[in-house]
Amino acid sequence: KTHPSKTHSDDSMNKRACKIEVPERLTVSHEALVKNGLVDRCVSVPVREATDADILLVHSEEYLEAVKKTPFMTLEDLMEFTQQYGDVYFHPNIYHCAKLAAGAALQLVDNVMTGKVRNGMALVRPPGHHSMRSAANGFCVFNNVSIAAQYAKQKHGVERVLIVDWDVHHGQGVQYCFEDDPSVLYFSWHRYEHQKFWPQLRESDYDCVGKAKGAGFNINVPWNKVGMQNTDYLSVFFHVLLPVAYEFCPDLVLVCAGFDAAIGDPEGEMCATPDIFAHLTHLLMNLADGKVCAVLEGGYNLTSLAQSVCQTFQTLLGDPTPLPVNLDGPSALVLTLKVDCKFLRISAVLYCFHFIKYLSHFSPADLPTFELSTKRIKVVEEEERTEKVEEEKNTEEIVWPDPPKRVSPCVRTAVVLPDGVDCPDGCKRFTDLHPDPLLGKKLDTSGIMQAVLGLVLPLGYQYNPDLVLLVRMPDCRISESVWQQLIGILQGLAQEHTLVLMQVKQFGQLQ
Ligand SMILES: [Zn+2]
Repeated sequence: KTHPSKTHSDDSMNKRACKIEVPERLTVSHEALVKNGLVDRCVSVPVREATDADILLVHSEEYLEAVKKTPFMTLEDLMEFTQQYGDVYFHPNIYHCAKLAAGAALQLVDNVMTGKVRNGMALVRPPGHHSMRSAANGFCVFNNVSIAAQYAKQKHGVERVLIVDWDVHHGQGVQYCFEDDPSVLYFSWHRYEHQKFWPQLRESDYDCVGKAKGAGFNINVPWNKVGMQNTDYLSVFFHVLLPVAYEFCPDLVLVCAGFDAAIGDPEGEMCATPDIFAHLTHLLMNLADGKVCAVLEGGYNLTSLAQSVCQTFQTLLGDPTPLPVNLDGPSALVLTLKVDCKFLRISAVLYCFHFIKYLSHFSPADLPTFELSTKRIKVVEEEERTEKVEEEKNTEEIVWPDPPKRVSPCVRTAVVLPDGVDCPDGCKRFTDLHPDPLLGKKLDTSGIMQAVLGLVLPLGYQYNPDLVLLVRMPDCRISESVWQQLIGILQGLAQEHTLVLMQVKQFGQLQ
């Protein structure tokens, strides 16, 4: 797709070849991974082509058959075929590439769900989140992530899939696919500008929350202006996505990992820096026992894209997240952001507690009152405070510092115990806490997790400490699962410099 201002200036060349969804997107990303020593640390999963049966999990037979014919079309026929769809470019090779892109996502799901790898990212093109049941759209031919979600449910018996779409465009194809399905929670933030930005759909707005049984399982966060920053992204994660995600308790997290939401991107025109994706990834890795599969979608500034891909990989590999930067408080827009809370069952109460500068002035009487159940909530009703965002006509001139170097210490975790306490046993039992059943269905999302996500995390990120000290007393009523989440989430701060003090009733009774 092209920027709206460019849409009408298409010449015939532009119609034949896409200027931004280019092969270099993959080569620069891969080169950056190699250069940073990240490829050597990953398990390389062989790619396969998605089968017809895989593709038909999401797409119609008519559409699949039509796409199958494209490798044999003349350029003229391809042009004509392309024109029935919106903003997509068909090349004789694209059917093959699209099968590989979807197949790569499925290979990743297989490897994660069978425990061969803990998590992973598929670097693929063409992207997928715009493509619909019977239509290519927005550079996308097959909906890679939607196919992966259906496949995970069918092949691996996954009951609940969370799809996080942090691409700067709305993945309407994913929304349409799952809007009446309560087993898939789809979250998307996207540049919207009151429906002026592509794909200019009414159903991308905040009040489209899903249909029938799927009502409440579709979350749209439309950005009505450009220039969103790191704090805006974090604050939406803390106050909207994560509370609902914890309640949903997914078995698998799929990420529509589009990096056109990062600084320098000609499509997104946002200001979030590449290192923010380290934090977003970290926050998602605490869900679903860490089963996270990211699949590349957009991202058209090659510098910003490669940096963002590396940041995501490093977090997936377990490196400490970098110290967060540029946390100046959310823009006025986030504070006036409307989200339909009709179905956000648990997040509403804390939704307004945005940031410390607001917290510091707040008293309980100032809290807005609203019903949790059926009313839409406008956090701040008054007019949006217009905040000047510098209009950067030429996005290529935007510069930003390189993301900070992230170093992983050779010893990640040390344990210090009094004499007479069986150290290895204690350590082992602690790490044994990680898998289910602790992350099971009993996670208390209504109380302490709300406070952690809505209060402790925003405060922590705003304060930006060098060390996180956690103390647990014997009479602490926090459940093991919440305690584990607390440690995991807070490790996103202070480059993982975390000190945990646990007082137990009697030595030798470490839990
Ligand atoms: Zn995009």
